[in-house]
Amino acid sequence: MAIYGGIDLGGTKIQAAVVDEDADHKVLGAKRDQTPLKGGPKAIAHKMAEVMKAALEDAGLDSSALAGVGVGSPGSVDDAKGTVSGAMNLSEWTGSYNLRKHLEKDLGAPVSLGNDVDLSTDAEFEIGAAKDFDTLLGVFWGTGVGGGLVLKGQPWVGRNTAGEIGHMVVRINGALCGCGRRGCMEAYAGRGSMEARARRRVEQGEKTVLFKLMEERGRDRLSSGIWERALARDDQMALELLEDAVEALGAGVASAVNLLDPEAVVIGGGLGIRLGEPWVQRIREAMKPHLFRDEDPPAVMLAELGDLGGAHGGALLASRRARGE
Ligand SMILES: [Zn+2]
Repeated sequence: MAIYGGIDLGGTKIQAAVVDEDADHKVLGAKRDQTPLKGGPKAIAHKMAEVMKAALEDAGLDSSALAGVGVGSPGSVDDAKGTVSGAMNLSEWTGSYNLRKHLEKDLGAPVSLGNDVDLSTDAEFEIGAAKDFDTLLGVFWGTGVGGGLVLKGQPWVGRNTAGEIGHMVVRINGALCGCGRRGCMEAYAGRGSMEARARRRVEQGEKTVLFKLMEERGRDRLSSGIWERALARDDQMALELLEDAVEALGAGVASAVNLLDPEAVVIGGGLGIRLGEPWVQRIREAMKPHLFRDEDPPAVMLAELGDLGGAHGGALLASRRARGE
């Protein structure tokens, strides 16, 4: 058996999985928990190890079973040094932190680091929705909107930061984005921006169940699940904000397709996965008016690995490193 751990570190959730890479990437155990909002990198790294250990327990194993662990992280990841820096969506993680050192000490297995979006894209390409294709654009619709590229079977990272599809401009002088620029796709489609818009509309006296649901669920942010529940209750504001998001996604993803002409587009991320195929269909429709060759669109698919995509990507990375790749 070749047992690897994968950890997907997100702004709201930490997802860990224990995967048998020799048995068709079978998930032996999995666990997810909230990302600590206080305590900085140390608290987050500690929680990551804890969630990994809980996934091992779920698999009936302990750390000694692990041949390696792969971690997908936001921010700027340096696998050579073992550090993650400038992860703006994470508590007090503006500087650099040696995540590998911390995790190797806690887990007693070699730890490899990768960019969260790149690992999720790789997993969908290798073993998920796009496994039969050679060229892929991964779109991860969550707190922000991340993008990953595989061209002719190889990941494309450009000079280092390719795939920032969330910052494709969909409206000149448009809404202010978290990146400080205007009119980015993420300023309309990112869950963080959507929440900020919802708050402004509430301040202006509009009604919504979004924040009531948030309080009921004991959350301090509008998670993907809360958007899903608000839709189920026919909440008009939630529907309108999601429709605006889809319109922006349609323009941004179609523009990227016009440039790259990939065989496949996979839609993942917290919101993409929660809302599922009916909303992927809305994105297909929203792309149409912007596609240069609208009679022959690429396959636009829902991410097949769901919430485990990033963790699978981590396990794949760890197994490659163990083979010396
Ligand atoms: Zn931006």
